[in-house]
Amino acid sequence: MTMSSSVPPQSRSILERLVSFDTTSRNSNLPLIDYVEEYLARHGVRARRVGGADPGKVNLFATIGPDAPGGLILSGHTDCVPVDDQDWSSDPFVLAERGGRLFGRGSADMKGFLACVLAVVPDLVAKSRAKPVHIAFSYDEEVGCTGVLELIDDLKARGFAADMCLVGEPTGMELVIAHKSGRAYRCLVTGLEAHSSLAPRAVNAIETAARLIAGIAEIAREFARGVRDDDFDLPHATINTGLIEGGTGMNIVPHHCSFTFEYRLLSGQDPEEVFARVKAMADALLPAMRAIHKGADISFEQVYDYPGHFIPGDAPAVRRMVKLLGSNRLAKVAYGTEAGHFHNGLGVPTVICGPGDIAVAHKPDEFVTLDQLSRCEDLLKRLCNETA
Ligand SMILES: [Zn+2]
Repeated sequence: MTMSSSVPPQSRSILERLVSFDTTSRNSNLPLIDYVEEYLARHGVRARRVGGADPGKVNLFATIGPDAPGGLILSGHTDCVPVDDQDWSSDPFVLAERGGRLFGRGSADMKGFLACVLAVVPDLVAKSRAKPVHIAFSYDEEVGCTGVLELIDDLKARGFAADMCLVGEPTGMELVIAHKSGRAYRCLVTGLEAHSSLAPRAVNAIETAARLIAGIAEIAREFARGVRDDDFDLPHATINTGLIEGGTGMNIVPHHCSFTFEYRLLSGQDPEEVFARVKAMADALLPAMRAIHKGADISFEQVYDYPGHFIPGDAPAVRRMVKLLGSNRLAKVAYGTEAGHFHNGLGVPTVICGPGDIAVAHKPDEFVTLDQLSRCEDLLKRLCNETA
């Protein structure tokens, strides 16, 4: 069902502001948080900053309505991915409208949703309500859903409870009930340096890393032949080496090499098991390395770890959304979100639905359509009014 609206979405001007803050994950999100806090204050909504681990970044948590259990969480992340080396048709931090599309970094992932949430705030405060609507804006989602953990811990410590959480990642306003889990590691190989003419007396860190990476690629091939869930567009687990760095010169045996790999698993697949396999490959390489150099080593550092997400199709939160969206379609997606943290970590039944297309996220000329924003605003108003 597509509802086209000729009324311009109220979120448009808010989105323009949100996009103007360069909240690439490596930057502070405080200027954006200041703006949101001020906006909420103007509508009589008090917000709380939750954070501290990184002085330049915070989560923002606000409540509309009574300080009572139950109610609804509207959740989104404030950070976005870098525009480095991307070829944009216009300034990624200046929202540009072309043919019903609003272009800008984060327009789809996921400032479009944040703008819709803020746009319906005047509506929400105008009604008295028995159950609260909470706004949860996080940081560092794009680097492994890590920022929101401070908020989850804070809410847990307060004995927080809610009936439902909506994570507004760009699903094209379709309902998503599941996603894969994700985990990433950095592997550091320490060898022994030498002039390349003396290579057999040294330990080549790049070659060692290459063997491990080849082993990881073999696991990837096994995943492709393994367990399937055809409700996902990519129906099996994946593993990928993403970054590599090492060596100092062409005629020097490299003494260091580091690389990162990350994997995404279906529910029921154990992330520890996958890591144990990679670790076992490393352990098998060590004796030969140490026979030449006692200090040779292979170490692993976990970069992130977020749980997968699954909520059954007959859960009340899902049934509520199905009714509001007028569609029975329940999707499963490969990309990660904070849904698992809210659902498993905080124990709040969580669904994913938001404006924009994940296919344009993270890319140059990312956009969200005016129609998607209108549909999201409409959904939020009806969902929140039900919560009244
Ligand atoms: Zn996102």
